[in-house]
Amino acid sequence: MVSTTEFCIISGVDRVKLKQGVIFALQGLNHLLWPAVCVNCKRSICETDANLCKDCWDKLLFCTAGDYCRRCGRDASRYALVDGDCPDCQGKQIHFDQIARSGVYGDALQQMTLSFKKGRTELDSTLGFLANSALQGSSFCNDIEFFVPVPLHWSRRLVRGYNQSLVLAKKLNHPTAKINTDLVRIRHTKSQVGMPTPAARTKNVAGAFAVRQGHKFKGTKICLVDDIKTTGATLNECAKTLKEAGASRVFALVLAVAGQNV
Ligand SMILES: [Zn+2]
Ligand SMILES: [Zn+2]
Repeated sequence: MVSTTEFCIISGVDRVKLKQGVIFALQGLNHLLWPAVCVNCKRSICETDANLCKDCWDKLLFCTAGDYCRRCGRDASRYALVDGDCPDCQGKQIHFDQIARSGVYGDALQQMTLSFKKGRTELDSTLGFLANSALQGSSFCNDIEFFVPVPLHWSRRLVRGYNQSLVLAKKLNHPTAKINTDLVRIRHTKSQVGMPTPAARTKNVAGAFAVRQGHKFKGTKICLVDDIKTTGATLNECAKTLKEAGASRVFALVLAVAGQNV
């Protein structure tokens, strides 16, 4: 004869099995109705593939491999550096102290950063993963007090609906640093993409940024966050503005460095 206690135990085991069966069936139904697809190329993937198919991961890893100059972010072998500068940035005035990058603006990383800017904010987890890897690999990660996303002019943010640099900054993992949006763009500038020379890009963004009244930047160490760096004119102008506001150190973190031959 089965006692009441044994009956309850058997029932408990059965309930767990039933629950697991229901969850499994629902997962199967969920996969049938909404199959997991690669966030980049939309190819079907397994649930465990972390958003990307193997092909896209391989392409992304190719873009994110390789050494770079910690002063300007361009491709550079550590043996080509002279006092920390690569041949490209020697003698150039750079207002940020150091830069960390996820990779080179090309192939899968270019496709993803462009899509991220054009409405596909669901790429934030994958791009955030790449940005966090770059951040952890930097020598300034532990110094950061504020993450400051490079701001858009309000009119551009209104059209786009979001600032991709702020969305990216929200995916960064840091034990103490906070996001601060007291750096603002006070002048609408033409797209840097259309600028013919680095000098034209510098002129285009000169005086375009300011800090809000009551900001807390004085004496702090800041990390600017942006999606793409080309000549660095925008980051440079932002860093200059933050240092004029009293920041003691300004670093930069970007997803991709473009225009290696500009
Ligand atoms: Zn893919
Ligand atoms: Zn350099």
